[in-house]
Formats: sequence, structure tokens, C-alpha cells
Amino acid sequence: MPTSVLVLGAGFGGLELSTRLSEELGDAVEITLIDRNDAFVFGFSKLDVMFGAKPIESVRLRYEDITTPRVRFRQETITAIDPEARRVTTDLDTYEADVLVIALGADFDMAATPGLAEAGNEFYTVAGAETLREVLPTFTSGTAIVGVCGAPFKCPPAPSEAAILLDEYLRERGVRDAVQIQVVIPFGVPVPPSPETSDAILARFAERGIEFVPDHKVASLEAGEAVLQDGMRLPYDLFLGIPVHRVPDVVAASGMTENGWIPVEPTTLATRFPNVYAVGDVTSVGTPKAGVFAEGAARVVADQLIARVRGEPEPPGYDGTGSCYIEFGDRGVARVDVDFFSSPGHPTGTFTAPSAETTAEKVEFATSRRARWFGG
Ligand SMILES: Cc1cc2nc3c(=O)[nH]c(=O)nc-3n(C[C@H](O)[C@H](O)[C@H](O)COP(=O)(O)OP(=O)(O)OC[C@H]3O[C@@H](n4cnc5c(N)ncnc54)[C@H](O)[C@@H]3O)c2cc1C
Repeated sequence: MPTSVLVLGAGFGGLELSTRLSEELGDAVEITLIDRNDAFVFGFSKLDVMFGAKPIESVRLRYEDITTPRVRFRQETITAIDPEARRVTTDLDTYEADVLVIALGADFDMAATPGLAEAGNEFYTVAGAETLREVLPTFTSGTAIVGVCGAPFKCPPAPSEAAILLDEYLRERGVRDAVQIQVVIPFGVPVPPSPETSDAILARFAERGIEFVPDHKVASLEAGEAVLQDGMRLPYDLFLGIPVHRVPDVVAASGMTENGWIPVEPTTLATRFPNVYAVGDVTSVGTPKAGVFAEGAARVVADQLIARVRGEPEPPGYDGTGSCYIEFGDRGVARVDVDFFSSPGHPTGTFTAPSAETTAEKVEFATSRRARWFGG
């Protein structure tokens, strides 16, 4: 009998896990992959969409194109998860499996920031990025704030990238002199594990006249002002928000979370329920909420399952390392390589300045995943 694996969520984590199991185990595995959406969109593609660099259709990777053998994709909404029984209910069906992997990512809590939905914008959802694509061309003067409303949040460099790209967008339109840009971040520096990366980003901010407001988050938007958690008020004309993150409702209702996220054993990604794993943004594993980490964790779960099916020794555990690409302006991309587990409590990161190579690497990163996960 093949091992049945039920993968919830077809994002970075779910797609990598399904692909690796299929490649390595062949007929020894039966994979069901469930997602409510009809397409995957890389997080960084939302920046391309909001600044009008790419049409939305070109960044939507349709699940119907998945050609991975033995992966059965179902476009359904998961409505209940019973981790004890490894039973999952959707709007259309019920599933049980030998192994259950939760890769449902992080959702957004717009209501946690009063005023955000009514008087602000966000660029963390495809819909938010599409709205901004219409709004940005109408913005010609005043103050733009890129503001983080809560931590943890996906892709810690993304607010800085958005500010740098906004600066460039406004310059290209000849209106930069009439606009002030401020970035509000709940950390002391843009990328805390890597002082070098933070210094480079702050130098770029200084060069581009972008004001950095560290150690603050935006609590609400009221009467044209962003109200920070300590009561400081910043007037704005355009607010680009990073909403408060939380687990999807169905995960919260499953009883699997502690302090808001699913706890896992850091090296194996096992939850406290037998044969139930969790990977990516939905967990509190201790790495940032980013696709590269979700993918790395998924690989580790896959390798454990492959070893188990083949009767081989337990493979090495999750090492909490990953590389993130950072848009630095002038169409250049930098890279930060971070390591979260080698010195517990003291993550480290090294910076590679933007170059033709790093810029090409980011393109290759996306192209290779697209080919690997979707075929062709
Ligand atoms: C602007 C921006 C830029 C970013 N840039 C980068 C970057 O450069 N590098 C990087 O590594 N990361 C980046 N990220 C972060 C990255 O996109 C996420 O961290 C990553 O997608 C997390 O992977 P995941 O598999 O945990 O979850 P996701 O990729 O979010 O996948 C979760 C899936 O679960 C599905 N789902 C949720 N609830 C249900 C339900 N009830 N029923 C059915 N399906 C459901 C969702 O539809 C989704 O497809 C960026 C994010 C943003 C917003």
C-alpha cells in the first residue's frame, strides 16, 4: 500500500513537499494537495504587480498546470482539521491520510489595525497589490508611509524594498521632489540578523531621502494620521501597510496553536500529534516568515518521509538557513544569507551587494521553482 500524504496549502512549503515526495518515492506515495486558490503567486511578484512592472496574469502560476506525477491537486477550502484523527474536511469533501502536513501560511487580520481597510492600502495580498497599481499613478505629492502593523510579518526586508521601489517609481514619474517617504518598522534596524544588510539598506535610504522610523508599529489610522503604538502620530497621504499576521481561522480552530502559531520540533517540524507536521509561515519554528524557509522546512519533512518509506536512517534535521533577495533599486537585487539555528537566540546574516549575478540569481530562483513545481 502506498503511503498517503495529505498536504494542506499549495504555497512554497506545500509545493516543494509534494514535488520532492513525488520525485523520490514514485508509486510508494499518494499525495493530495489542497488549496482554496486556483493559482500560486510568489510574494515578491506582488511588488511587480503594485508598481505596474508585470501584469497579474504573468505572475499567476495556475495549479491546473501541475504535471507532477502522483500529486492530486484539489481546489477546495479547508473548513476543519482534526490532527488526532488526521482527518480534514473541506467545502467539498473529507480526507484522511497516513501523514498530514499543514502548510497553510499566514493570513491577515485587517481588523486588528482600525482604519487600515478604510483609509489605507496593503501590498501583502494580490488584491491589495492590484488596487495599489491603480492608486499609485494618482499619487503625485504628500507623504507616503510604508508601515508595519504587527510582528512577526512575512519577508522582513519587504517593507524596505517597497520604500526603495516607491522612491524609484516616483522619480521615474518626475514627482519625487513633492513626496516624503517614511518607513515604520518594529525593529531597531531593517534586517536585525544582518548588521551589514541593515547598514546597506539604511545607506540606500539616506541616499534616496527615505526616512526610517525604527522600533515602532502602526496601531491605527485616524483622520489622515498613522497612530503608532506609543501614541506618536504621523500624517500621511498614502499608506502602504503590512497588516497584522495570524494563522488562518481553520488552523486556530484546530487546537494546534500556542501563542498564535503551530509549535513544531525545530529539527523535524513534527507537531505534538503523531504523523502530523507543519511547515512555513503557519509555525513558530524560529525562522522568519519567508518562502525560502518554508521550502527548506518542507524539504526536511520530505526527506524524513522518504527515509521512512525506504527504511533508511533518519536524515539530517532542519538547519534554519536561507537566502533572501532584496530589491535595491536601479533594477539591482542584493542577497542576505541568514542562519537562525547555529547560535541559538543569535541569528546571523551575511550581505551580498547588488550585482548582475545576484540580480540574475533571483530570476533563476523564480524560474527554477516554476519549472520544478509546475512542469514545463
Ligand atoms: C510583498 C512580499 C514579498 C515577499 N518576498 C519574499 C522573498 O523575496 N523571498 C521569500 O522567501 N519570501 C518572500 N515573501 C514571503 C513568502 O511569500 C511567504 O513567506 C511564503 O509564501 C510562505 O510559504 P508557506 O508555504 O508557509 O505559505 P503560503 O505560500 O502563504 O501558502 C499557504 C497556502 O495555504 C492556502 N490556504 C490558507 N488557508 C486555506 C484554507 N482554509 N483552505 C485552503 N487553502 C488555504 C493559501 O491559499 C496559500 O496558497 C514575500 C511576501 C510578500 C507579501
